[in-house]
Amino acid sequence: MAMLLKSRIEVRFSVEVLLAHDLAQTQQFLDDYEGQIMVALSDLNLPDVPNGESIGLLKQYGITTVVLTASYDEALRKRVFQERVADYVLKEGAGAIEYVLRILNLLLTNDQREIWLANISDRMARKLGGLLSIQRFKVRVFDQHKELEAELALSKPNLLLMGQAKQQNVWLQVLSETRAIFAFYELPILACIETESDINSALKYMKYGATDYIVQPFSIEEFYTRISQNIEQQQAYQDIKHISQTDALSGLYNRRYCLDVGENQYPQWRISGSEVFALLVDIDFCKRINDHYGHPKGDEAIVFVADQLKQHFSDKVVARFGGEEFLVLGETDNSYEVLVKAESFRKAIEVESTKQVGVSFSCSIGVVFNADSFEKLVAQADQKLYEAKEQGRNQICHKFERLQTA
Ligand code: GH3
Ligand code: MG
Ligand code: MG
Repeated sequence: MAMLLKSRIEVRFSVEVLLAHDLAQTQQFLDDYEGQIMVALSDLNLPDVPNGESIGLLKQYGITTVVLTASYDEALRKRVFQERVADYVLKEGAGAIEYVLRILNLLLTNDQREIWLANISDRMARKLGGLLSIQRFKVRVFDQHKELEAELALSKPNLLLMGQAKQQNVWLQVLSETRAIFAFYELPILACIETESDINSALKYMKYGATDYIVQPFSIEEFYTRISQNIEQQQAYQDIKHISQTDALSGLYNRRYCLDVGENQYPQWRISGSEVFALLVDIDFCKRINDHYGHPKGDEAIVFVADQLKQHFSDKVVARFGGEEFLVLGETDNSYEVLVKAESFRKAIEVESTKQVGVSFSCSIGVVFNADSFEKLVAQADQKLYEAKEQGRNQICHKFERLQTA
């Protein structure tokens, strides 16, 4: 199992895994790699020590530890968490390896996650703060709602844990206002109910915007489970959101996302008084690249164009609009500068494509500044692109419409 875990973990997380066969070797590693060990997976019993002494040693060095155990019983569970381990895994189960990978996925990256504890009694804050740092989370404590609100205006944690230490009504308002700013999938909020068995309070917090709750008395294991479920769920939402907005080949935004942004932003871009533009790019004779050099070469050409667009228009919305078509959207105070960048991009493809992709090719570009609506802006850019193709390709056609300020 050790060998299997080592190879699976190294492949999945790009980390080095050291195998210690007994307590002596564990001690050796702790000394040799001081400050470099992120997480330990430890059998409860090692050949030279039968009673879980390795757990104590790892704890002494402040190493976040997951215990592997062959058997499960109540006494063991209690003992394991008393020893301040981050979790335990039953070795025998068919899902053991998957469980280890799942918990490591969090433990190895939790040092980049923040959990904020708000309005929690001092005693509870110390306890939960301690438990969270065993799992390597960064923890901040807020007992003033104004302070929390000020921080939330600047950044957000990965999870907010809100208690009921004082002034419940004020804090419920803060909860409600926080939820108005961050959708539930952007910020999980866990209500921590310190009054025993007070499920009604828990439900009230849910009505004000909490995503989940934990009610006293709760075990360490229950607390950890709630935290990791909420974090994993938020992570899954973020991943799905990213996948739904981007194109896998080029890493650019996809057609749907850029059209959504355009529709939503267009009125604001108009109001701000600057020029709104759409720039449409199409690779010239892309079919020929595929036919002569194969489809993968065509894909390489697409990726190269995408990278060049990202470089030239880094502060704009750059999207893969279709197969080998790209759309850049934005506002500008300087339409001339947009045209200069477009020309520099066109030239970069013409000059660099042979060296970077191994095939010489070019792009045609249609640019339009201002239109009555976003839809028309894109349609007219398409018209200009068509003209660029008609006039011999590898060129830019543009149109500038002066508008009365909205
Ligand atoms: P032109 O635009 O200059 O008129 O010629 P074209 O050959 O590029 O014609 P068009 O833009 O109409 O054709 C799109 C072609 O681009 C079809 C297909 O061969 C290629 N293409 C589209 N999407 C992809 C893709 O994801 N990968 C690859 N390799 N090729 C693609
Ligand atoms: Mg095309
Ligand atoms: Mg084309």
